[in-house]
Amino acid sequence: MSENQNNEEEAKSKEYEDICYICRRPESVAGPMIHIQGDICICNDCMQKTLDAMSSSGLNMNDMMNMNMGKMPNISLINLADFPGGIPKTQKIKKKKPKEKRETPVLDIHSIPAPHKIKASLDDYVVGQEQAKKIMSVAVYNHYKRVMSDDKDGVEIEKSNMLMIGPTGSGKTYLVKTLARLLDVPLAITDATSLTEAGYIGDDIESVVSKLLAAADNDVERAEHGIIFIDEIDKIAKKRNANQRDVSGESVQQGMLKLLEGAEVEVPVGASSKNAMVPMTTIDTKNILFICGGAFPELEEIIKERLNKEASIGFKADLKDKYDNEENLLCQVTVEDVRKFGMIPEFLGRLPILFSLEALTEDMLVKILKEPKNAIVKQYRKLLAMDEVDLVFEEGALHAIAKKAKEKKVGARALRAIIEEFMLDTMYEIPKDDNIGRVIITEDYVEKKGGPVIEMRGVAAIGQSSAGV
Ligand code: ADP
Repeated sequence: MSENQNNEEEAKSKEYEDICYICRRPESVAGPMIHIQGDICICNDCMQKTLDAMSSSGLNMNDMMNMNMGKMPNISLINLADFPGGIPKTQKIKKKKPKEKRETPVLDIHSIPAPHKIKASLDDYVVGQEQAKKIMSVAVYNHYKRVMSDDKDGVEIEKSNMLMIGPTGSGKTYLVKTLARLLDVPLAITDATSLTEAGYIGDDIESVVSKLLAAADNDVERAEHGIIFIDEIDKIAKKRNANQRDVSGESVQQGMLKLLEGAEVEVPVGASSKNAMVPMTTIDTKNILFICGGAFPELEEIIKERLNKEASIGFKADLKDKYDNEENLLCQVTVEDVRKFGMIPEFLGRLPILFSLEALTEDMLVKILKEPKNAIVKQYRKLLAMDEVDLVFEEGALHAIAKKAKEKKVGARALRAIIEEFMLDTMYEIPKDDNIGRVIITEDYVEKKGGPVIEMRGVAAIGQSSAGV
C-alpha cells in the first residue's frame, strides 16, 4: 500500500471512534480505550473489573502478563481467539461532531432545493403523478426546514411524515428512491409484512432504524436526517374478527407510534439484531422522515360506499352505480376511509400527509417506456449503439407493449419483463452480423405476428425478417 493510501486510511479511521468490546460504550462515553490484541479495545472500567475478577480467582501478575483472555481459566467473558481480526470495521461508529463547534452542517437549508426545483427533478424520472410529486416536494422541503429550525419562539413545526396510497407498480418506491437520491440523504426501505412486535419471530420494529444507520455508513448524524420508507403498510391493518393476539397488525402499528413521532432508539451497529457481541448506539428518530406506502386493495370499496352514501341523501341523490367504473377512486381518499380499513387513529395522526397515486394508463406506460432519463427504451438503444446499431421502436410497438403490461395489472413493473422477453432474440442475433445498421421494432413483432425490420449499413431496408431476429 502506498504512503498516500496509508495516510488516507489513517485519516478515515480518526473519524470513527472505538467501542469497548465488553460494555459496548463508545470512547466518547467511556473514556480512552486500552488497545489489546488485534483491533480490540477495552475501556478502563471493564479492564479494572477484569483484573479484579482475575485476582479474586487467584491469578497472579504472571498470568496477567501472559494475558490471552480466551485461553485463561475462569474467564469466559470473551474469547479473542475466535476473532482474529478484532472488531469488524462495520461495527465502528462515526464520531459525533461536538454540537457547538459544527462547521459544515450535514444539511443546510440553503442547499435544499425549493419545492418547484424538487418537483422539476422528479419530473425527469417519474411520469405523471403530478399531485403526488407536488405534495411530496412541499412536504420534504418543510420537513428539512423543520429540522433546521429551533423552537425558541414556542412555535414547533409538526413533522411531515407521509402516507402514500397507490396501486402496485404506480411508482411509490420509485418516487421515494428518486427523492432520497436528489436530496443526497440515506434511505432505508423495509417491508411492513416482515415487522412484528418485539419478542416475536420476524424483525422487530426498531430494525428499520438499524437499516438506515447501515445506509448512512454508520454515520449517526447522517442517519438522523435520513428517510425511512415502509412499504406494504396496508398489511399491518387491524385484523378484523381476530381472536388471537395480533402480533403483526395492530400491535405493530402501536409499536411504531413512538418511532414515527421521535424517540431515542438503541440500535446495533453493523448487524441486524441485538446481541451481546454487537456494539450499540443511540439514534434519535425526531428528524427522520417516515414515508409509508401501500396499495390498500379494498380501500376503493370503502370509498365507494361512503360516496354512495353521501350521494343518496339530500339533493345530491344520484345513481347507485355511478362510481363503479371510476378508475381513480383512490384520489378521493380521506383519513376516515383509511381508519375504516384498519389503521388505528393514533397511527394516522402521526402521518399527517395523506395522498394517493393514480393508476397508470396506457399512455402513461408508453411515456414511462421512452421519456424518463433512464427509460427502458433509452437503455436498450444505448446497449445496441455500442455495437453501432441504431435501435428504433415504432410508436405502435410501444403501445402494444403498454397494452400487454396493462393487462397484467401490476403497473409499470410488467414493462421490463415484456420487453426483455422479445428483445432477447434481437440482443442475441444482432451482434453476430457486423453489416446490420438499424433494427426497427414493429407492432407486429411485439404481437408475435412478424419479425423486426432489419436495415443493412449503407443499404435501404430489406423488409421484414422472417427469421424473427
Ligand atoms: P410500487 O408503487 O409498487 O412501489 P415501484 O415504484 O416499485 O412500484 O415501480 C416499479 C418500477 O416501475 C419502478 O422501478 C420504475 O422503473 C417504474 N415506474 C413505476 N411508476 C413509474 C412512473 N410514474 N414513472 C416512471 N417509472 C415508473
